[in-house]
Amino acid sequence: MTSTRVPVGAGLRGWLDHLQATGRLSMTKPGVDLRFGVAGVANRLDGVSASLFPAPGGHNVPIVSGLLSQRSWMAEAAGLEQSELIAGFENACRSPVPSEETSDATCQQVVHRDVDLEKQLPIPTHNEHDHGAYITAGLLIARRPDTGVQNVSIHRLQVSGPDRLGALLLPRHTLAFFEEQEREHADLDIAIVVGVDPLTLMASQAIVPIDHDELEIAGALRGAPLPVTKCITNDVRVPAEAEFVLEGRLLSRVREPEGPFGEFPQYYGERTERHVIEVDALTHREAPIYHTIVGGGLEHLLLGGIPREASFLSQLRRSFPCVRDVHLSRGGTCRYHLYVQVENPKPGEAKNVILGAFGIHYDIKHVTVVDTDVDVHDPTEVEWAVATRFQADRDLVTVAGTQGSKLDPSTDDGLGAKMGLDATVPTDAPEMRFTRIRVPGEVEIALEQVTSPAPDDWLERATTTNA
Ligand code: MN
Repeated sequence: MTSTRVPVGAGLRGWLDHLQATGRLSMTKPGVDLRFGVAGVANRLDGVSASLFPAPGGHNVPIVSGLLSQRSWMAEAAGLEQSELIAGFENACRSPVPSEETSDATCQQVVHRDVDLEKQLPIPTHNEHDHGAYITAGLLIARRPDTGVQNVSIHRLQVSGPDRLGALLLPRHTLAFFEEQEREHADLDIAIVVGVDPLTLMASQAIVPIDHDELEIAGALRGAPLPVTKCITNDVRVPAEAEFVLEGRLLSRVREPEGPFGEFPQYYGERTERHVIEVDALTHREAPIYHTIVGGGLEHLLLGGIPREASFLSQLRRSFPCVRDVHLSRGGTCRYHLYVQVENPKPGEAKNVILGAFGIHYDIKHVTVVDTDVDVHDPTEVEWAVATRFQADRDLVTVAGTQGSKLDPSTDDGLGAKMGLDATVPTDAPEMRFTRIRVPGEVEIALEQVTSPAPDDWLERATTTNA
């Protein structure tokens, strides 16, 4: 944690101020290319600093990227210690705070009824074989016309025309809302919100039941209702302080080609017939800032990963009280590799945990279970446990022919195998065999009191100083 605390709920601009004040906001020279230029710089600074691009491609709207590209930054934005992040996020999911309607919405200071996406927004092209410009940090908010319940999710949005977007909708809540409308030959009203505060961004990725509005989880993370406002052309409620809002409709019975697009597993999602959005109006703040998430970067990986960890932890703990902590590793694309930490599992229970984890989400492919003396957030520690506590003939679980991620190119269109590694110490192991070496008192030493940089005459001093 840094010593400067960011006021929780300070908004996007407050968060950028905080990153600047703590040396984590880099600004480029004006005019960086929208095609690969923005993504190249953002990737080079990924995890080190957020990046700000004035006049990208000569456009008058600046771009930011990398707002939340460290686990610790997310904790900071929520006013939590890093060790409290997962539990804090899970608490927010359990106790949502309803949003508060306001008519004083900065996101509607400027209204465009004639929409020309690439003229009005600086939309970059990120990876080599991406089809073209994509909106990547757009919170798609859908509203059920019958109940008024909303859903929030982020989808890759290909610019297909001046007021037309191609969207990838995975089989989750937005798609369920849409299919219900499409059965009646009706479009689904939606809004796409770009440029929100970091807590709303995190909340959008919460894994909660279908009738839970993720904006209310943003309220819980802030500890105060999120101000929302009604769109101008439909009834969708959007964060009132957002930078940009695209109001539109997911079109019934229309599919058009979308892709390829560089995705979180560091491969391209293929080009195929997908859903289409028509944009009816664009509203924004005066002097707005546009947010982009580079496909496959840390912001992309962690935004999906942290909320999943929170959800997986609470689900596993319901069946297995021995589960203490979970981690989705970066090497496993923050989706496919789950590390689980358990305390005193009963004989065989680690394997039950593995089987339970396979069932939680189809993305989970490889599960490794370790004891509490292994830091589950440190892949080197987990590898050490596998190296010294795991035997493949005894501790390996495999399941063939299961549902996996379609974006994993080693699967057969999503059909693949699961693998679990039980790297816990056997319950009947002799006491000393698995005791980790350690130096007593090492952690407690106040290093700055007993050491200092060695001076130039180090040899003389070291050999003549009498103790
Ligand atoms: Mn949802």
